[in-house]
Amino acid sequence: MNQDSTRKARVNVRRAEVMELVEKEIQQHYQSELISHIRAAGNVYNLGHTEFFLAREFGFCNGVRRAIDIAYAARKVFPDRQIYLIGDIIHNPEVNRQLEGKGIKKLPWKHLDASYDQIVADDVVIVPAFGVPTSFMDALEEKGVQIVDTTCGDVMKVWKRVKNYASMGITSIIHGKATHEETSATASRALGEKGRGKYLVVYDLEDAAAVCDYILGKGSREAFMKRFEGCCSPGFDPDRDLEEVGIANQTTMLKTETQTLQKMIRDAIVQRDGDDDNFYVFDTICGATQDRQDALYDLLKNPLDVMFVVGGYNSSNTTHLVDIARKHVPTYFIESAESIKSIQYVDAFDTETREVRRMTTEPVVQNLGKSLKVGITAGASCPANLIEATILRIADLRK
Ligand code: SF4
Repeated sequence: MNQDSTRKARVNVRRAEVMELVEKEIQQHYQSELISHIRAAGNVYNLGHTEFFLAREFGFCNGVRRAIDIAYAARKVFPDRQIYLIGDIIHNPEVNRQLEGKGIKKLPWKHLDASYDQIVADDVVIVPAFGVPTSFMDALEEKGVQIVDTTCGDVMKVWKRVKNYASMGITSIIHGKATHEETSATASRALGEKGRGKYLVVYDLEDAAAVCDYILGKGSREAFMKRFEGCCSPGFDPDRDLEEVGIANQTTMLKTETQTLQKMIRDAIVQRDGDDDNFYVFDTICGATQDRQDALYDLLKNPLDVMFVVGGYNSSNTTHLVDIARKHVPTYFIESAESIKSIQYVDAFDTETREVRRMTTEPVVQNLGKSLKVGITAGASCPANLIEATILRIADLRK
């Protein structure tokens, strides 16, 4: 069937009369008067003998807020239609729970599996803020469903970049996590219009060092292919495909690491070729991620006793905030106030082992009855009401 004959025109669901109703719901579900008050008062808040220092920038970014607005609006515009969502709308369990409560059914995002067979042309499918691979968009358009796309504009800027690389025959080196929704969507765009583009996903500086070694003729092809299994385009040939490379990154990576990685690969190319003609780079870390990281560095200049970072455990930008903070001060990565079990124990996420562990709150216990300086920040997908609940929980336990 001709895809153009089945493709439905996109509908603007963010109409003024719809958004008026959506705004009320969003306020109810996620807003916090206390957090607005703290922001207005310079991000410092005293409650008893506990002093809270909040980062200058934290919580919902514009891309997340827009995605939630669109999903809520879609429910209002299509009240009687079955609505599906591919994966999570954003990486926060509370927001995803609210959407499920609206009858929006979740579909798997890793593969187009048999659960997609149930979707019919009358259904509505929401694309999350991270975007989805091109194969998903093609399949949905072929079915003729109503697509409601919440992909963030900053993610689309990365796609534009890697598509350009593909059209110029340049291999995209994507600094990101191959199993992250956004990077998976970006990698599919790096294949280009004709599907012949090349990409390699590099997660960290160790991966980057392996790429540099290969560029410089060190390291075996077999070891290289094993290391990057599942992280490169089909038929990737490191002898051919590392000749001319362009860097892009998942929007939520650690800025300093991305800069180091870019320099490492550029230096390797220069060492190999004598110049950087075969090296291209565009920093695609989004402004919101960078602002939250910069604000955290500023917050850490305060003499904090302890730090709490609130957000979804699968949130990339939140994980990086935790990694920054814990180098400076004891830090607990929690999903919500319920993670704080008592004055002594927190069920916090360990970003190295990637599991929730019961941890003792040494700095809090040591300062019982004395003043305590608590730093607070939250990822770009964390609602303000969860941050408020965290502050009140800590203050309550320290009464
Ligand atoms: S963190 Fe950045 S890329 Fe992700 S939704 Fe927010 S603005 Fe968009």
